[in-house]
Amino acid sequence: MYYNTHTHLNAKELYPTRDTYIAHAHEAGVTRMTVVGYDVSSSRLAVMIAHEYEGIVATVGISPNDCEETTDEDLAIIKELAKDPKVVAIGEIGLDYHYDVPKDKQRDVFAKQMAFAQEYHLPIVIHCRDAYEECFQMLESSSLKGIMHCYSGSDQMALRFIKLGFYISLAGPVTFKNAKMPKLVAQNVPLDRLLIETDDPYMAPVPLRGTTNEPANCVYIAQKIAELKGISVEDVASTTYHNALDIFGLKE
Ligand SMILES: [Zn+2]
Repeated sequence: MYYNTHTHLNAKELYPTRDTYIAHAHEAGVTRMTVVGYDVSSSRLAVMIAHEYEGIVATVGISPNDCEETTDEDLAIIKELAKDPKVVAIGEIGLDYHYDVPKDKQRDVFAKQMAFAQEYHLPIVIHCRDAYEECFQMLESSSLKGIMHCYSGSDQMALRFIKLGFYISLAGPVTFKNAKMPKLVAQNVPLDRLLIETDDPYMAPVPLRGTTNEPANCVYIAQKIAELKGISVEDVASTTYHNALDIFGLKE
C-alpha cells in the first residue's frame, strides 16, 4: 500500500474525472492520499474531495506562485477552511524565487500562513524553489514541522531540514535521467524521513513523461527510490506510508 502525499485532484485537468483517477490509484495500491490546495478555490475543492472519498485528506493554503494578488480576505478564508476536520496541514506555502512574484509579498503571505499552522497545531507543506536558504531561516525561527514537497535542493540541505523536523518528499524528477540532485537525496536521506508524491497533473515520472500525471504514478517514485537505495519497493512503500500517517497525524 502506498501513501501519495501530494496530489492535485483539485486541478482542472483531474477534477472532472477524479473518480477514474482515484480508481486507478486504488488498482495500483495507492490507498491513501493528500489533496493539496494552492489558492482559495483549489483549497475549497481539496476539502470537498476529502469529504467525498475515504482515504483522502486535504491541505489548504496559498502557494508562492499564486500569492501576488492575495488579500487579507483570502487569507481569512484559508484560516477558516483550516478548521475542517479533514484538513491535516497548511500548504502548499513557501517561497519560489524562480518566477517573478515579488519576494516581500511571498514572505508576507508565507509568514501569515505559518502563523495559522502554529495556532491550529498543524504541520505545513512547503513549496520551495531557488530559495532554500531563506526558507530554512524562516522555518528555523518557528517550531513548525512538515514536508519539503517535490524537494529539489541538495542532500546536505535536506539533512538540515530533517533536523528541524521536516520530511523530504520526492516526486517525478527522481526518475528523470538528468536529475542528479534528487537521486543523491534518495540515496542519502534515511528512508524514515522520506515521502513519495506525484504533484500531478504535471511532472509525470519516467516511463510516462509527457503524459498527464495522476496519483497512481507515485508507485514509480517508490520503485526508483528502492532501486537507488538497493532495498525492496515493499520497504519503501510501507515506510513512506507510515511516515505520511505520522506527519499528518492520521491513524492506520
Ligand atoms: Zn503542488
